[in-house]
Amino acid sequence: AATKGTHAFSAEVGRLLDLVVHSLYSDREIFLRELVANAADAMDKRRFESLTDKALALPAKAAITLTPDEKAKTLTIADDGLGMSAEELASHLGTIARSGTRAFSAKLADDQKGNATADSPNLVGQFGVGFYAAFMVADRVEVVSRRTGSEQAFSWTSDGKGTYSIAPAKRSQPGTTITLHMKADATDFLNPARVGDIVKKWADHISWPVELVEDVDGKRQTRPLNEGTALWARPKEDVTPEEYAEFYRHISKQFDTPYDILHWQAEGTTAFTALLFLPSMRPFDFLDRQSRESQSQLYVRRMFITADAQLLPAWLRFVQGVVDTDDLPLNVSREMLQATPVLARIRKAVTRRVVNELKKLGRNALANGGKNEGAEAWLEFWENFGLVIKEGLWEDALHRADIAEFALFRSTHSTSEGLEGWTTLAGYVQRMKSGQDAIYYLVGDNQDALRASPQLEGFKARGVEVLLLTDPVDSFWPERMGSYDSKPFRSIAHAHADLERFEAPKPTGDAAPLGKLLPALTKALCGKVSAIRDTDRLTDSAVVLNHEGTPDLAMQRLLRRSGQ
Ligand code: ADP
Repeated sequence: AATKGTHAFSAEVGRLLDLVVHSLYSDREIFLRELVANAADAMDKRRFESLTDKALALPAKAAITLTPDEKAKTLTIADDGLGMSAEELASHLGTIARSGTRAFSAKLADDQKGNATADSPNLVGQFGVGFYAAFMVADRVEVVSRRTGSEQAFSWTSDGKGTYSIAPAKRSQPGTTITLHMKADATDFLNPARVGDIVKKWADHISWPVELVEDVDGKRQTRPLNEGTALWARPKEDVTPEEYAEFYRHISKQFDTPYDILHWQAEGTTAFTALLFLPSMRPFDFLDRQSRESQSQLYVRRMFITADAQLLPAWLRFVQGVVDTDDLPLNVSREMLQATPVLARIRKAVTRRVVNELKKLGRNALANGGKNEGAEAWLEFWENFGLVIKEGLWEDALHRADIAEFALFRSTHSTSEGLEGWTTLAGYVQRMKSGQDAIYYLVGDNQDALRASPQLEGFKARGVEVLLLTDPVDSFWPERMGSYDSKPFRSIAHAHADLERFEAPKPTGDAAPLGKLLPALTKALCGKVSAIRDTDRLTDSAVVLNHEGTPDLAMQRLLRRSGQ
């Protein structure tokens, strides 16, 4: 096949490898986390495929084995996973397969333009580089892999310096063996005790047995390194915060420490265990992602089924986690997943639980006027994910009222409550002026532009608070939601007439009569505007554009962008 022989890495991989190899990376040991995680993923995939194709069944004692050889200076990581064909070796290991790594290398390119390479090694630690982390410790890497269902194995070899070679090879069973020829300064990773410690630290939650093969008095012995039980199946009291955090990083491929953890067992018509995480950082490619679907994983009896079951609504897609149920058959098909009432019930219960948690977190954070420990973390969480949560105000009629309870907004009210300029809708309503029956808002590109908008002046002068909305979805939800606490949302772009309800401020300076100016302007702008009027809405600006009966500016811009 065309894949055999020597090939150049894709340019992206070349750049990444260069960085990996040349950075004096302090946490080099994470290479093992990456390789063991890949092995576990491959075994999950094989188990899933074997549900519908018995020929792919895993061996009874499927495991990930680590064999350090101090004499040969090699560390070998072998798995009973799905394996890779020659084509897959080339495409998965010769180009950048995973989106996280791609985003990482894009960020890297950015940084290099800005000459900020000093931070790049930290980036490796923050985001992980998957398989390529092997080149942090090895000067040659050999992968021998046999795809399940195939008799032929292939090897992939590279010194990480621009090219890799693929050739036919031998492997008695399907799976993958990775042999690292360790660099002279990385031989401490050949020490069995060291390998054991690293696995304990990084990979203890892996739900496949990880075993160490070592020589004891000239005899080969196998020693288990992890518990091999699914973390979520363990009682809460037995799981340490570090174990939770590491598991979160494993399933989400994110590298922060979770902001909040939900771990519970539901009993009743549908029984399931759920372990969910609210991230503390927004993944840097989050807003560029094509898919709005939740990636939380569905397991049946500890077996991975799919990450596409949409366990949570799109506006909660930042939530990461696992739901495991005994109430579905193991060989559940995609079509069945769509149709089964079991999944619908799980979705409903899981979503309700997350919504209640958000309400609770919001409530606690804002108690005492926001002057308490939880407030800062909550505000940060809202800055990261509020713009996604607000999509729920637009599209999730069932939870709209719940979201409105904890959603935060910027407004013209400068708050002294420790909310750093944020308010809830309830806070806004409390401050409404007598005679005010609507919640006023203005949509625009950014806070500065909004605050400088002449549209605001009349409201500011009369002390009427206005919400300042800048996220894409803000152009949509107020109208769809209609009202909060029976107070309609009203864009001030349409609400200038409302100003008459509020007492006008005393004019300062002399109000020059506009008697002659208005007809002159009307003539000059004939056909471009429908009318020109005197106004008491402005305090600083000379003119303001008004829209009567047409969508407001932000909406017009959005419609233009979408080609309407
Ligand atoms: P990621 O694991 O995040 O996708 P990697 O660079 O670590 O990124 O791996 C790239 C791809 O190579 C994986 O998605 C997988 O398809 C394949 N791969 C890596 N290691 C193995 C393995 N041990 N068995 C089977 N496939 C593997």
